[in-house]
Amino acid sequence: MIIPLHAETGGCSTAPVLRERGQREVFCGLTGIVWLHRKIQDAFFLVVGSRTCAHLIQSAAGVMIFAEPRFATAIIDERDLAGLADAQEELDRVVTRLLERRGDIRTLFLVGSCPSEVIKLDLSRAAQRLSTRFSPQVRVLNYSGSGIETTFTQGEDACLASLVPGLPRTAGAATSLVVVGALADVVEDQLARLMAQIGIPQVSFLPARRSDAMPAVGPGTCYLLAQPFLADTARSLESRGARRIAAPFPLGAEGTTLWLKAAAAAFEIDPAHVDQVTAAARGRAEAALSRVRPALAGKRIFFFPDSQLELPLARFLSRELGMVLTEVGTPYLHREHMAEELALLPGGTVLSEGQHVERQLDRCREQRPDIVVCGLGLANPLEAEGLTTKWAIELVFSPIHGYEQAGDLAELFARPLLRRQLLAA
Ligand code: SF4
Repeated sequence: MIIPLHAETGGCSTAPVLRERGQREVFCGLTGIVWLHRKIQDAFFLVVGSRTCAHLIQSAAGVMIFAEPRFATAIIDERDLAGLADAQEELDRVVTRLLERRGDIRTLFLVGSCPSEVIKLDLSRAAQRLSTRFSPQVRVLNYSGSGIETTFTQGEDACLASLVPGLPRTAGAATSLVVVGALADVVEDQLARLMAQIGIPQVSFLPARRSDAMPAVGPGTCYLLAQPFLADTARSLESRGARRIAAPFPLGAEGTTLWLKAAAAAFEIDPAHVDQVTAAARGRAEAALSRVRPALAGKRIFFFPDSQLELPLARFLSRELGMVLTEVGTPYLHREHMAEELALLPGGTVLSEGQHVERQLDRCREQRPDIVVCGLGLANPLEAEGLTTKWAIELVFSPIHGYEQAGDLAELFARPLLRRQLLAA
């Protein structure tokens, strides 16, 4: 089915979107724990799930480099649910034991999953009960990381949305800025430094690195999304009176500049001043991109829907590296949050939302792109058919935002092409 987007000017603002609702090939939201447990350093993620969930999280997180892990799975099976009251008691026992042993935990997330046994458990009731019992030392929250949701990045969205109701209220009417979305610490530091140099006052990040440093939110708060998959978090922030600053996402030199300029404009700071402050970093990013451009210019790329990063990535790869977009698929197209990205995409780009995996595979085979961005489940079969692939999940695990990472981001696409050339030689 083709439906038109709302009318706006430029790029793909009014381009038709192919909407598909069929079988999907994506990871579940538990995957978000892999980067979130590194980001919020005094949080613990207790997955309430099955053995499958335990295996997924253990293998996705790889080797634990911490002396004490900050995630675990409480395995629930049919027997535990012989009586639901017993399951709640068992959960209380597990949590009590964990918190007694780990005095460093300040926020405990109970993470729901999709096995039917777990869905029957009321985790929000458990979180409320446990929070009352362990406050003020520990706050217990819950969210779903279930694979029934649209895609794996929704795990971060659900986690951040669960934090919002407990954020402190802003004092007074002064305008403050909250950057929303988990970023690697090094990236966060770089962006915070640039924003301070630009003169944006009171910048904070959600999530913060520590539970007691989460930002205050209220009617004077402006928020700027750093990740494109945070629709529920955005809604929660707005229900607290915060206002979204519309901007493209900070991927690539151009995206980062426009993102910073949008933040500056909310504080009535002249864009020319942003250009001046960012000139050196922008120059480094452009130099790094020019080194990778010969490997990517003119190459045709196809995006399967996976992370919701697809549109900003496509914009970056086409505009800054000269790649040709054959199809840009996204699991969910949030028209409002994506308006600036759509306007920057080249006119005529084929856009798709949702998935019917067999039909999309047919389109991909027909196109024979030089590189395909897809989930792990599709990568091996496509490689076996002679196509070059890039795992979408790697783009979420790697630091890719901001000026200093622009070259590395481009490299992530150039490397598989180089590897294919070497294999063919
Ligand atoms: S939450 Fe669902 S999809 Fe994810 S690992 Fe557990 S059972 Fe599998």
